[in-house]
Amino acid sequence: MSSKMLKFVNVEKAMPQKREAEKRKFDFDEIYAEFSEQKAEEQASRCSQCGVPFCQVNCPLHNNIPDWLMLTAEGRMQEAYEVSSATNTFPEICGRICPQDRLCEGNCVIEKGFESVSIGAVEKHITETAFDNGWVKPITVKAEKEQSIGIIGAGPAGLAAADLLRRKGYQVVVYDRYDRAGGLLIYGIPGFKLEKDIVTRRHDLLAQGGVVFRLNCEIGKDITFDDLRAKHDAVLIATGVYKARDIELPGSNLNGVVPALDFLIASNRKSLGDSVPEFDNGTLNADGKNVVVIGGGDTAMDCVRTAIRQNAKSVTCLYRRDKANMPGSQREVQNAEEEGVVFQWLSAPQEFIGQEQVTSVSAQRIHLGQPDATGRQVPNLLAGSEFTVSGDLVIKALGFDPEDLPGMFNQSELGVSKWGTISVNWKTMETGIDGVFAAGDIVRGASLVVWGVKDGRDAAEHIDTYIAKTEQQKVQAAE
Ligand code: FAD
Ligand code: SF4
Ligand code: SF4
Repeated sequence: MSSKMLKFVNVEKAMPQKREAEKRKFDFDEIYAEFSEQKAEEQASRCSQCGVPFCQVNCPLHNNIPDWLMLTAEGRMQEAYEVSSATNTFPEICGRICPQDRLCEGNCVIEKGFESVSIGAVEKHITETAFDNGWVKPITVKAEKEQSIGIIGAGPAGLAAADLLRRKGYQVVVYDRYDRAGGLLIYGIPGFKLEKDIVTRRHDLLAQGGVVFRLNCEIGKDITFDDLRAKHDAVLIATGVYKARDIELPGSNLNGVVPALDFLIASNRKSLGDSVPEFDNGTLNADGKNVVVIGGGDTAMDCVRTAIRQNAKSVTCLYRRDKANMPGSQREVQNAEEEGVVFQWLSAPQEFIGQEQVTSVSAQRIHLGQPDATGRQVPNLLAGSEFTVSGDLVIKALGFDPEDLPGMFNQSELGVSKWGTISVNWKTMETGIDGVFAAGDIVRGASLVVWGVKDGRDAAEHIDTYIAKTEQQKVQAAE
């Protein structure tokens, strides 16, 4: 093993510098700085090069983490980039926004008493170094194929598939109903976690490499699904999940009670320089308001922190379980607390109060009871524990479900799972329709970027196999 490694005994874990809450809460720039070259090498050298690397096992992409950590520690950055980009289409994005505490880093087995290697930050450093040095190049195709693949959805799943398919020489067209590529990377996740030029840089590279983008084009509306199928030799559905889960309470229809994604999209569009009337007229703008966010996942954390940056008067998060049981990343909760968000744990809203406009939320405390069949403790309302929180903007962040399927494309053969997602054969990612594949959140339900990338890459491989098989069948039929 390289003598550069195994330094965890003497070198403490460090993360890239985080901007102070008092400064960062006034802008939408990322809160973490970059590792310096020396810091990245030092942190990578803490890895003990495990024989069975649990970090890698628990990374959805099975990234070759020990190898790129060793190459980084040895200063062999171009090789580190080659290894890292061999399994991950967007390492600089995953390095920034994967919940590492639940994936690679949470499973790093440096002996007890020592903290995990800062894997995500090193991954980001490797790819940013590659961009700085011009090692990240647009795709060049050696042998063009005549077959074309239509991809519906320019989120991480669709873009990862587009990248791999184009590398294989296919004519790739990506359709998206939005005016920009990136899906939730561009319009969901706020800039303080992922700056937008990181996403547009990837879009530009793909376009330069020959991937054709048809933006502002909704399949099922601007082009029928049947017409799309007729245009392409295979189709990938990577449309994500966008139907907000709702909460039916007295006062739900009051002005000022809004879904999370409407609020985040308005904020992201504003940051991108678009004209956003709902933001400018105050409907989707937290400026000067008492904001209450309902929910405890990543979306809720993005809403509370966005509201802080929009100069809210106060920001309160109501979550029905306790901090230890939050679905969102603990790191994001800590960031939110540092920025001044007030958490009301074990609290559930009961009524939105106001005349036309919401002015407060009546809530009740929760006691966590016995675990149910899923193993999670059941939340029970505590009698006599009612309390009120001022709120003239109430944001519902309770998660997302798929839109109406198969009605979305008017395709009755599109199999639907009991969760409302598209059913696929997991071995091939193929749907019930010949030559139509699916990937990302529309298959898994609301998930993570890294899983979208994994599905997109897998789907690309299976589409390639499908095309080869179809071509072979054509040849055999002609003989
Ligand atoms: P999406 O990113 O949703 O992309 C789907 C695309 O399909 C969209 O661009 C949409 O416009 C397009 N589309 C849909 N229907 C049509 C149609 N009919 N015609 C044309 N185009 C269509 N994950 C993390 O790993 N880390 C995080 O920190 C994180 N934070 C999140 C914060 C928020 C607020 C949200 C909502 C999600 C977050 N996630 C996070 C989850 C992550 O963003 C998703 O799991 C991921 O983006 C899913 O990728 P996808 O490609 O399947 O779908
Ligand atoms: Fe960790 Fe995500 Fe990178 Fe995998 S892709 S190594 S889980 S940060
Ligand atoms: Fe290195 Fe930790 Fe992975 Fe082991 S689990 S190879 S120490 S990063």
